[in-house]
Amino acid sequence: MSTQEASPKLNLLLDGCKELGIPIDEHQEQQFARYFATLADWNQRVNLTSIIEPDAVQTLHYLDSLTVAGALPTESLQSGRVLDVGAGAGFPGVPLKIVFPGMHLALMEATGKKVTFLQHLVDHLELTDVDVHLGRAEDLAKDPALRESFDVVLARGLAKMAALVELTLPFLKPGGLLVAHKKGDIDAEVHDATKAIRVMGGKPPSIREVNAPGLTGGRVLVIVEKVSPTPVGYPRRAGMPAKQPIGK
Ligand code: SAH
Repeated sequence: MSTQEASPKLNLLLDGCKELGIPIDEHQEQQFARYFATLADWNQRVNLTSIIEPDAVQTLHYLDSLTVAGALPTESLQSGRVLDVGAGAGFPGVPLKIVFPGMHLALMEATGKKVTFLQHLVDHLELTDVDVHLGRAEDLAKDPALRESFDVVLARGLAKMAALVELTLPFLKPGGLLVAHKKGDIDAEVHDATKAIRVMGGKPPSIREVNAPGLTGGRVLVIVEKVSPTPVGYPRRAGMPAKQPIGK
């Protein structure tokens, strides 16, 4: 990777990683700096994120993404098959891949322009073993190469829990884990997803509060273990999980 680009010191990221117990070397720091430069550049043409100020990107995107690490077994982080559904500008999947380069990462995104960005980003950061999939989760879940094939599925900002589990759990192997980023009071939302989780083959969720420097607003990770295969009829056709979530 060239070192010609200015790499601002990412102090908030570095301090936060220390607190999260995640070591970051210079190469990884440079990848985060390059990620920022690429995001800022593309965001002028493609609507990727409203959070673009450098401090906010470090806390609300990078560190927030990395809080997932504390919820996953080391083996999954180091060599697992991890899928980020509705990856948008790459959160939380890409920051995790930077700090755990042995992970096999797949990014799934329905919007073509975002997929173009993600593919560029992966190439530009010289990340290896990352697949970028264009399409809706409802359709891609029918692909036998993807269905029930991941150890971990991540989702941030994708949908309400009841729809989210229909869009994500079909991709997990039994024994795998869904980790969903959520904010605020999510008890009711999780309660509304009780039946959907059961139907998709998941166990009742656990909720983990997350803390990292600069992160406020009651952030939690909702963690669902998949215990049995998802029935063939799910997910339903594109749009249905959000439009008509499986009832309580
Ligand atoms: N995870 C990112 C983006 C959140 S916005 C972040 O936290 O910053 C949600 C993203 O999910 C959008 O980019 C949207 O295009 C994508 N998305 C929504 N429904 C989807 C579906 N059914 N399948 C695949 N992607 C979807």
